[in-house]
Amino acid sequence: MKSIVLGYPRIGEKRELKKAVESYWKKHIFEDELSNISKNIRVKNWKMQNDLGVDLISSNDFSLYDQVLDMCITLGCVPQRFANLTGLERYFAMARGLQKEEVDVKAMEMTKWFNTNYHYLVPEFTKDQTFSLNPEKIITEYKEALKLGIKTKPVIIGPVTFLLLGKEKEQDFNRIELLDDLLPIYQNLIKEIDELGVEYLQIDEPVLATDLNLDERLAITHTYESFKNLNTNVKLILANYFDCYGENLDLALKLPVDVIHLDLVRCTKQLDDILSHQLFNKKKTLSLGIVDGRNIWKNDFEDSLKTIEKAREKLDVDNIWLSTSCSLLHSPCDLELETKLNPEIKQWLAFAKQKIEEVVTLKQLASHEENKQTLEKLKENQCAIQSRKNSKLIHNNHVKQRVKAIRDTNANRQSVFSVRKEKQRERLNLPLFPTTTIGSFPQTKEVRTWRAKFKKGELNTQEYNKLLKAETEKSIRWQEDTGLDILVHGEFERNDMVEYFGEQLDGFVFTKFGWVQSYGSRCVKPPIIYGDVQRPNPMTVYWANYAQSITQKHVKGMLTGPVTILQWSFVRNDQPRSETCIQIALAIRDEVNDLEKAGINIIQIDEAALREGLPLRKADWQYYLNWAVKAFRISSSGVADQTQIHTHMCYSEFNDIIKSIADMDADVITIECSRSQMELLNAFVDFKYPNEIGPGVYDIHSPRVPTLQEIEILLEKASELIPVENIWVNPDCGLKTRDWPETKLAIGNLVKSAKKMREKEYKGI
Ligand code: GLN
Ligand code: ZN
Repeated sequence: MKSIVLGYPRIGEKRELKKAVESYWKKHIFEDELSNISKNIRVKNWKMQNDLGVDLISSNDFSLYDQVLDMCITLGCVPQRFANLTGLERYFAMARGLQKEEVDVKAMEMTKWFNTNYHYLVPEFTKDQTFSLNPEKIITEYKEALKLGIKTKPVIIGPVTFLLLGKEKEQDFNRIELLDDLLPIYQNLIKEIDELGVEYLQIDEPVLATDLNLDERLAITHTYESFKNLNTNVKLILANYFDCYGENLDLALKLPVDVIHLDLVRCTKQLDDILSHQLFNKKKTLSLGIVDGRNIWKNDFEDSLKTIEKAREKLDVDNIWLSTSCSLLHSPCDLELETKLNPEIKQWLAFAKQKIEEVVTLKQLASHEENKQTLEKLKENQCAIQSRKNSKLIHNNHVKQRVKAIRDTNANRQSVFSVRKEKQRERLNLPLFPTTTIGSFPQTKEVRTWRAKFKKGELNTQEYNKLLKAETEKSIRWQEDTGLDILVHGEFERNDMVEYFGEQLDGFVFTKFGWVQSYGSRCVKPPIIYGDVQRPNPMTVYWANYAQSITQKHVKGMLTGPVTILQWSFVRNDQPRSETCIQIALAIRDEVNDLEKAGINIIQIDEAALREGLPLRKADWQYYLNWAVKAFRISSSGVADQTQIHTHMCYSEFNDIIKSIADMDADVITIECSRSQMELLNAFVDFKYPNEIGPGVYDIHSPRVPTLQEIEILLEKASELIPVENIWVNPDCGLKTRDWPETKLAIGNLVKSAKKMREKEYKGI
């Protein structure tokens, strides 16, 4: 039996890599220092894993920015526009774009890595795409570890996954057709690795957890047949994770690889399926991904040992490996740094380093190499698991009763939209093309300093609130002067749209160093939902109230929706995600109702992350969408017809989920639209979306101020597509990351354009 790890976080336990890379960008340090710091991180990680007793440790799991970008370099798949650049300058230009002297190149696109919150750079392919091998990084890192006496397994992304993750930049060809040009590069890579004496190579093909068409499946078979025909000594580990092999299982079992890795956390039933499968060859090694690589809960040893026992009944011990479900890239580094966490909760958790220990201990227990110490660990583990099952911190009967008591009527507004619309019109008395914003206004340095001081105790609540009130009042006055129809308070009190709510809800806990890479040097620190969620006190009423009290205009209340809060947190694994989501929905519902009571007539519930919660396989979508939509409806349905519910989503690919979006039954939805020139509204048009829509007319990702004319063109387009009485005018998203001067100009233009559209409409032009 072997213990293996699919990959380790590379950011450093105190985000050393982030700091180094950012200093390099600012030219505070140079390439040699950056490379020294990087090497130190790698060496530390390898040594730690080695000391803990991992049998097979990864190399090439380090990256200065992103592993897909690294693969682009390794395979010589560099877009033409970077051809004149070299080395690190080219590398970071591909990641972030470069503007200097005569050079002005745009970065590659970035998107989410499967269903995680990690973002990778999207490979670009042209019809006559060429590839070439640059194996230096893989070789250097392998040798580095070897010098420490550690024989690693390099990790690479497989050819089919690499192609499918990318995008065609020209028409009339399919990127999978490039496989024949790409395979020789991989083959040469394997040969070079063989010459180095590498024993195992881990090839990640997580596309096996998605729906593949016939060509794509053939590409997989063809690839691994061709690798086998190389007759090298390198043994191949095929790694799939994040979901089952599903209908790709037959295909995977037939592949001539030495080890097949299974994610037994996301797909527990997979082991039985394989062990009883007629195609399963007992000579093959199974890597059981039994320790969760992307959540923070301690492994249940007793449970895991039962699973391993099942494999042992059918397989030789040597053919069983124990592993993490996926790379630990998605876990925070080290729980030991969390000295302020409630010890009761802390004992339930395991971060990357602790997960490594779990894999090793499980191997010792399962292969009966146990000694006093490991038996002690087993006992400790059982205690922790028991304590979590019965803890009073987790279980709140009141919440459980409330969830049980939910009836369909709780997820329905009192009347249908057409009725609500009339009542809202009467109350709100809005013009055509009403204008509003998405919630946040620029968070200046000062605002952030106040918050930092407040957190450190250098400002008391009174002082802090006074400053925020002044900032809020300024924003209200400016919105009135500019002529916006529906105002917002500006969200100056919020650091992050999930953290702000998590901090005020029961059942959430926050870490100090629980960072996880989001993209490049950016890390996020997701809250941990450990128990039943309840809202002890109103969370936003104070600020909404204050803002409403100083203006005659309507102020829109601003909340984060249940699906988004769930999606951007570490979620409990002792109950279905859907159940946790419904609990959050009830807490948000309470808040919505309280805002209504406080006299707020319009309430926005942001569901920025609804789409990214979609499962990897289409067959599983509907189930998810059903509970996600239900959660939103529970949060929004406690109010009177006259109260207008808005939702917001910061993207606009709605084609395949438009029915569910309509089922959410928000009175108004605001979406991102400006970059696509309203093209993305088509889903709404084709579906005849009945409720009101605010297609974004100002790209908030850019400091550019859109001209009056540009906005008008967009609004004209929108009016051709949807009934004018349904159109709202707003930016693509919140303005938190913008500066005030550009925001004022842009919103000024937005309001003027709406007024012009109104005039034209009234005059019947
Ligand atoms: N209300 C939030 C804001 O304006 C919405 C942010 C988002 O959609 N990501 O910042
Ligand atoms: Zn948004």
